Amino acid sequence: VFVCFEGGDGGGKSTQSALLVDRLRREGYVAVPTFEPGDTAVGRELRRIVLDPATGSLASRTEALLYVADKAEHVESLVLPALRRGEVVVTDRYVDSTLAYQGAGRTLGDAVAGLEQLARWATRDLRPHLTVVLDVQPAAGLGRFEGRDRIEAESLDFHLRVREEFLRLAAADPEHYLVVDATRTREDIAAEVWTRVLPALDR
Ligand code: C5P
Repeated sequence: VFVCFEGGDGGGKSTQSALLVDRLRREGYVAVPTFEPGDTAVGRELRRIVLDPATGSLASRTEALLYVADKAEHVESLVLPALRRGEVVVTDRYVDSTLAYQGAGRTLGDAVAGLEQLARWATRDLRPHLTVVLDVQPAAGLGRFEGRDRIEAESLDFHLRVREEFLRLAAADPEHYLVVDATRTREDIAAEVWTRVLPALDR
């Protein structure tokens, strides 16, 4: 079973991923926490390049390809092997982040369809059983940050487009998505997430 947390920066994805992994383990499942970008050896290098402000300007398509490369490596070397062992993989970000940030955030325009194809190809079209979108108002979410990486430093408009894209993806496929207001308490959110994860585990 493959579960994904998505959403804008500062919505509590890493907290909710950790809470879900704890819960799964308490219930006797083998759960693997992971994230994008950067949870493989090559991914760590890619993450540094795309997020370090010192990288300077990066063409939108170059940036998109680096994120997609991270995804390919992630799925091939970590996610798929764990799923084949029957483990529950919980990832903090996945394909939707690339569609939202590199697609809608950077205005790739008509090229967004190509980006989606590329991301699907890179991930062998592996799709999460459930994607939880922690919905956060960009301004509020960004306020929680001290240091800023290349993306957090983007304009409010950029982050508003990112949010819209996550919501659009979720609305198009309610069976595989759960949208949660990220301002609710963490316990409350974790409980709702669990009610949606449970049925997927029985399959
Ligand atoms: O989720 P995390 O905080 O590790 O993400 C690091 C940064 O990378 C964030 O600023 C996020 O907005 C950005 N990001 C991105 N495109 C992705 C995934 C993450 O711009 N596909």
